[in-house]
Amino acid sequence: MVVLKTIEEIALMRESAQIVSKTLGMLAAEIKPGVTGLDLDKKAEAFIRDHGAEPGFLGLYDFPNSLCISPNDMVVHGIPNNTPFKEGDIVSIDCGALKNGFYGDHAYTFPVGEIDKDTQKLLEITKKSLYMGIAEFREGNRIGDISYAIQNFVEKENYGVVRELVGHGIGRTMHEKPEVPNYGRKGQGKRLQNGMTLAIEPMINLGTQKVKQLQDGWSIVTKDNKPSAHFEHDVAMVNGKPVLLSTFKYIYEALGIESDEEKEFMYT
Ligand code: MG
Ligand code: MG
Repeated sequence: MVVLKTIEEIALMRESAQIVSKTLGMLAAEIKPGVTGLDLDKKAEAFIRDHGAEPGFLGLYDFPNSLCISPNDMVVHGIPNNTPFKEGDIVSIDCGALKNGFYGDHAYTFPVGEIDKDTQKLLEITKKSLYMGIAEFREGNRIGDISYAIQNFVEKENYGVVRELVGHGIGRTMHEKPEVPNYGRKGQGKRLQNGMTLAIEPMINLGTQKVKQLQDGWSIVTKDNKPSAHFEHDVAMVNGKPVLLSTFKYIYEALGIESDEEKEFMYT
């Protein structure tokens, strides 16, 4: 069942999403060679609690930490560890927060120092595909329109679209209906409507779409060990249009990046 939210509930959801956004912004300034995932996890947990929220992932399905940290060929669901990041790595960080009974869930893939050109392009195209998916979250469209927009865009680059993991509805539970695959057909699937709140999250591989799970029971990695990128926003439909609940602006402030990519989807 799809749970539609009122305007008041969407405002509360935005609060939770923005705590995650600020957490990612705080982490952006910390990510450099020598830093470990566990360092970031500790900082994130304290930061989330200082903002009056609970870490959304800690204990969820028995996940042991507050962040999912997935470097290089790891797609998602990495458990933070003591391995220092190196120059040239990419690190996907997925973070959740729970406040006022509502979840935020939002992710960004960070370069560590200078990265190679192919990987840089993977990050750019994956992030762009997220906004192309978001633009389809409009009245009159269906889930498949979001899915198709993402898949069509990234497959032009011969990238692999992960099939096993998908976006989702979000609200009083982290994962609600409907599923939001990053592959699909225009005009197919559930009709999109006002009050829907979705976590849209392309997971895109430089090489094969195929993935496998490591023995820790969590980490998902690419089968060819080529890099994978993951960007995620929480989005609501208001007045027939997509509105961002989360933002990358804190990350961009920390990294000195200029961007107007969110302008079209501003919450007012
Ligand atoms: Mg997430
Ligand atoms: Mg998610």
